[in-house]
Amino acid sequence: MPGKAPLTILNNRITRCRRCPRLTAHCKQTAKEKTARYRHRPYWGRPVPNLLPASPTDAASARLLIVGLAPGAHGANRTGRMFTGDRSGDFLFEALYRAGFCNQPDSTENGDGLTMTDAAITSAAHCAPPGNRPNTDELNNCAGFLDQTFEALPKLRAVLSLGQIAHRAVLNRYRRSGLVDRLNRYPFAHAAAFTFPDAPTLLCCYHPSQQNTFTGRLTPDMLLNVLKTARAVVSDGV
Ligand code: SF4
Repeated sequence: MPGKAPLTILNNRITRCRRCPRLTAHCKQTAKEKTARYRHRPYWGRPVPNLLPASPTDAASARLLIVGLAPGAHGANRTGRMFTGDRSGDFLFEALYRAGFCNQPDSTENGDGLTMTDAAITSAAHCAPPGNRPNTDELNNCAGFLDQTFEALPKLRAVLSLGQIAHRAVLNRYRRSGLVDRLNRYPFAHAAAFTFPDAPTLLCCYHPSQQNTFTGRLTPDMLLNVLKTARAVVSDGV
């Protein structure tokens, strides 16, 4: 009988983690208070695992890793699935679908039939933070999970950071691996791309938060264009 796949073991570890007292309490409190719209629905209320392609074999062969900031209080912290159940997720998954990285444009609930194709989604912090802002200690606490996610995805060819904090978390991962020394050589900018001889290409995109999408700072076409670049990188090794 084969053992559990490393990605499954990692997801189990993530969901059991209680290392950040402030975030653990916030996830629980948000799940208890709920928001009016979902007051009769259950909340996940704990760390959100990585979202992976359907089977362990497919999951390990993902060539694109998307890195967000942290679960939304009434989105992923409610549904237990990355970027699922809020406006940010609506925006992201429609673009992922159009770029061929998932099978449907909607991601409303765990069990809604969504499957990822060739891409996985993680975040710099796996717990919903107050004000959508994990602090430095919390990001450092969660960095080990980002390292383990990279290590469990040996086929990665591109990493897409959604926003500056995610980009910084990925650069720190590259620094821990000895791939970069000075982080300021890789400044975040929308649609920026950084290549490395022996590591996945880093791509940047504004985070699909309402702050960016409602103001037009990030449009559907802008996100789709970055995902098309990601598609080209994973397909051709650009
Ligand atoms: S943010 Fe990460 S390290 Fe902190 S409690 Fe959540 S899963 Fe654990």
